[in-house]
Amino acid sequence: MTKPVFDRVALIGLGLIASSMFWAIKRGGLAGEVTGYARSQATRDTAREIGLCDRVCDTVADAVEGADLIVLCVPVGAMGSVAAEMAASLKSGAIISDVGSVKRAVIDAVQPHLPEDVHFVPAHPLAGTEHSGPESGFAELYDNRWCIIVPADKDTSPEAVAELRALWEGMGANVDQMDADHHDLVLAVTSHAPHLIAYTMVGVADDLRRVTDSEVIKYSAAGFRDFTRIAASDPTMWRDVFLNNKDATLEILGRFTEELFALQRAIRTGDGDHLFDYFTHTRAIRRGIIEAGQDTEAPDFGRGAPKS
Ligand code: NAP
Repeated sequence: MTKPVFDRVALIGLGLIASSMFWAIKRGGLAGEVTGYARSQATRDTAREIGLCDRVCDTVADAVEGADLIVLCVPVGAMGSVAAEMAASLKSGAIISDVGSVKRAVIDAVQPHLPEDVHFVPAHPLAGTEHSGPESGFAELYDNRWCIIVPADKDTSPEAVAELRALWEGMGANVDQMDADHHDLVLAVTSHAPHLIAYTMVGVADDLRRVTDSEVIKYSAAGFRDFTRIAASDPTMWRDVFLNNKDATLEILGRFTEELFALQRAIRTGDGDHLFDYFTHTRAIRRGIIEAGQDTEAPDFGRGAPKS
């Protein structure tokens, strides 16, 4: 039996990310007790029914009282108000973390509410699905995925960072550390802009009334089907991501538009060499992702092809 990393952990917000954390913490024996809080009675009722959290509390104050680690698992735009609500009930020396997909805006929103005698160590697990809510979590979500720890400032306690790292590693993740602005730029490239493109592509297909709905669905080979999966992601979460990572996302979308125009031009002018070279380069990037262990080479037609 492993020694728990924390005596008491509080999860605030009980959706996909928090529920997966709970099951992974239980799997690894990483905490003595996990308390949980969600704003709606319906989510708290569901959590109690499915045994999500050792104790589900009806107020944030009850959930965080006596906790050594508090993890904010609410949408990015709600982090500040939740931090304000719990601030007076925090134990001296507690570690406050979060899982928000954007880091600079969360630090700016949360830090002003925290008392001086707690440690703020933001983080972002790079793992998710298009599902949300308390019933969508599973213990394996973080296995072999990255979690980026983004200390709020250079004075952040190394011990607090080390404890949070131990928790994420115990949940199966690989842990990296970066500063908030760099995190937001990297994520704009790898996640935020691709989501916006998927949302747009699905919107375009829906607009194309010449192609009937049934044709879009019937002939949606892996490309379009993957877009529809991404575009089914939670609207609140993604609205908040774009509103809170504005500059980096707009910068990447600007570059994307330039490249798209160049490809459009190559198609119009019949410049096959440009297209071939471009696709050769992007194929090499895909190989790099497989070599880094972040995906497998197994064919994936979007219908549960076996993973190797
Ligand atoms: P989720 O399944 O939709 O759950 C969100 C939780 O936050 C719910 O318990 C909800 O409470 C609560 N909540 C929503 N709005 C709130 C508000 N205004 N005030 C207080 N609580 C509120 O979301 P999730 O996918 O777990 O995402 C949680 C966080 O993880 C987000 O910051 C997101 O950026 C980040 N993240 C998500 C993914 C992903 O792929 N999903 C990946 C990495 C990081 P009720 O149920 O009571 O409404």
